[in-house]
This record gives sequence, C-alpha cells and structure tokens, in this order.
Amino acid sequence: MINQDLKALIHRLPSFSRTRFAPSPTGFLHLGHVTSALFVWLIAKVKDAEIVLRIEDHDQSRVRPHFTAQIIEDLNFLNLLPDHGNNLAKSSYIQSRHPERYHDALFPLQTYFCECSRKTIEGRIGSPSKATEIAYDGFCRHRGLTSGALRLFWDPEPIKFWDYRLGEFTHNPKQQCGDLLLREKNQNYTYQFSVVVDDFMENIDFIIRGADLLESTGRQLRLHEMMGNAAYPKVFHHPLVYAESGAKLSKRDLSESIQDWARKGLTSEQIVGKAAYLSGLWLREEPLSFEDLLHEYKSL
Ligand code: GLU
Repeated sequence: MINQDLKALIHRLPSFSRTRFAPSPTGFLHLGHVTSALFVWLIAKVKDAEIVLRIEDHDQSRVRPHFTAQIIEDLNFLNLLPDHGNNLAKSSYIQSRHPERYHDALFPLQTYFCECSRKTIEGRIGSPSKATEIAYDGFCRHRGLTSGALRLFWDPEPIKFWDYRLGEFTHNPKQQCGDLLLREKNQNYTYQFSVVVDDFMENIDFIIRGADLLESTGRQLRLHEMMGNAAYPKVFHHPLVYAESGAKLSKRDLSESIQDWARKGLTSEQIVGKAAYLSGLWLREEPLSFEDLLHEYKSL
C-alpha cells in the first residue's frame, strides 16, 4: 500500500540529473542502508535521473575491502542496479582508488597544518556534552607548522538552505565546527572534504541521504561555494528508520546484515518489503520488488 503523501512529495521535487548512493564500507549493509538505497533509487528513477554508486572508503583505518565487495553483492541481490551496464562493481566509484582527486582539490583552498588533538582543544575551550562536536578555536592558524593534520582557513557566513522534505534551515559552520578538518594527521581525507569534492566532480545536483547527516549540510554547501561550485546540490534528507519508526524496528533488525537475512532464506522481495515498510514508503509489511515499488511511485 503506497504512501500517497511521500509519492506527492517525490513528484513535486524539482527535476535534477544525478544523485548518488554513498555507503562507507565499515560494515555490512543492514536494513537502515537499504531504506536509504530505496529512497535514492526510487527518487532518481521517478525523476528520470542518473545514480552513481560511490564507495566512501576515505577512512582507511576503518574500512575493509570485503565490506565493499559485499555491499555491491547485496545491491545486486536487491536488484538496485546502476544506470550504465549491469555491473555495479565496474561502474562504481571507489574513493581510495583516486587519491589524486582530493590532492588536486586542495590547491585552490587556503589551508594550514594543525597539531591539536581533541583533548588539547577541549583543554582550551572545555568539553561539550558527549555527542556534540567541538568547534575548532583556530589555535594553529598562524603557527606556520609544516606537518600535521590539514585544516581549512575560512570565515564562513551562516548559510540558509532548503531541505526538500524538512524545509528551511540556517547553519553557522563557524560555530558548529570552526576551521574544517580536511585531512587527518594519518593522511586520510575526511568525510566532510571528500564528499564535497566528489559531489562537485561528479556533477551531483541532488543529494538524497539520511537525516543523521543534516548537521553537516551547511558546511558542505559553503565548501562547495569555496571550491567554485556556486550552484551547489539540492538536498533531501530522508527519515531514519531507527529514529522515526519507533517500535517498528527492533535492535535485532538493525544488527542483522542483508546477507544474514539472505542466508536465512529471505528473498530479495521480503527484504525490500521490510525496508520499504520501515522507511514509510510502503504502509504494509509484505514482499515487494523494487520494480513494483517503482511502478506504484512512478505512475501518475
Ligand atoms: N558515507 C556516508 C555514510 O555512509 C554517507 C555520505 C553522504 O551521503 O553524504 O553515512
């Protein structure tokens, strides 16, 4: 049973040409990822846009190659395929294979080296409550260091943006994060930097991702501007299954990976049906192929 409100919302979205699905291979795909993938594939297909699969393995200390292989296999199993050809493994973009892209993107930016750890920053400005990020205080800005982590020298104004599901937001990156960390001491590029470089280089003009990433949006759009992408992407943050569907999702549901479900004999339709129900895209839990879901959402 289709969710008519979401259907109307998706049909009202502006047209766009490319979006992406960008999982980090730090674990196996679970139902939360599948709901995210369903939003990406569904919205893109309804709007006749292209989908890029990007494996965000920028954090080499946490990623494992077998997670990448399994993510690709799981998407194939669920019949969430790329636009070009039928081979997700061949058509996906894997960050760690393109270090020069991030290296080159640093050039136009004003940056400086920083040797502060979270602990030393907190020692100066006090520690926030556990989950809150800390805004860098600019301590190393003028120290002329020649090695360490790399930060962006910037003074961003607050930014207003429109989320196509949630409405208008104003973010103030200066207060949220201060000078953005672009590369860590161990040379890993950060998520905040690499995602903007990739979205810009790949001409992504519409971002569909979970509401857990909403807090990062203002700074990312400001970084797009700094890198010369004045027409930065439009954004749509979908609901998180574990936060917004309350009792529908048990801890066990989230800890089981897609391959666990598949090994137990669940079909691709049963998994898609579960994810579609949890995400609110479908109002009853029942087996459903992605093609059926798309058919219902695409029809006028
Ligand atoms: N790699 C991020 C994640 O798996 C998603 C990044 C994004 O969509 O901006 O949470």
